[in-house]
Amino acid sequence: MSRKPFIAGNWKMNMTAASGEKLIKDLIPLVKDADCDVCLCVPAILIPAMTKAAAGSNIAIGAENVHWAASGAYTGEISADMLKEYGVKYVIIGHSERRQYFGETDRTVNKRTLAALNAGLTPIVCVGELLEERESGKTNEVLDRQLAEGLKDIEDITKIVIAYEPVWAIGTGRTATDAQAQETIAYIRKKIGELFCPKCAEKIIIQYGGSMNAGNCKGLMAQNDIDGGLIGGASLKTDFAAIVNYNK
Ligand code: PEP
Repeated sequence: MSRKPFIAGNWKMNMTAASGEKLIKDLIPLVKDADCDVCLCVPAILIPAMTKAAAGSNIAIGAENVHWAASGAYTGEISADMLKEYGVKYVIIGHSERRQYFGETDRTVNKRTLAALNAGLTPIVCVGELLEERESGKTNEVLDRQLAEGLKDIEDITKIVIAYEPVWAIGTGRTATDAQAQETIAYIRKKIGELFCPKCAEKIIIQYGGSMNAGNCKGLMAQNDIDGGLIGGASLKTDFAAIVNYNK
């Protein structure tokens, strides 16, 4: 079964309205003939300006987090409907930085994911192991837990994107090898088959994330089970276009 590749950027807490707009304007002609889906997930306050900057192009705008409640007394939070109102299509959920610094758990990942789906957003759900977990042979055990608990009660699992992001490879310049990324993503796909259905496992988009750049994207994207990338640092420059155009 053929899956359409999907390359997404994660700006994290970077860029301003002016620098973001300039980058998007620079990227538009560079990515216009991409064979993959393209998205930039940007800080919430930049969403209206970046949606406007990307209007009419093939760059979709995404968010970096979403709250699970529709509205209410949750100071500082943003709901899925608020994101939708400003043209957001995708939302990153459960990024390792949110797990590490903001108390994100598999339970809250699950609540956010269900709320995003309910509002018609496409969640990009991040999973991945710490270095010590990989080194002690616990990678699959960690993924089993993150997938079973984080994706609980999802009716149509093919409506989400999974980003496999080994935490030791994020922002470190140390990428997983092609073989390591392929092996782990194939494991995730198999697990989705067991938890949901084999056909869904064939259909679901699974990205790799962790120091992916213009130099290593071709090798990673050539792997059978890797359908795209979630790109941090390299999405802050026009290098992002080289990743989007990995097959050209
Ligand atoms: C990320 O933030 O999801 C990420 C993969 O970052 P980087 O590409 O900088 O490692």
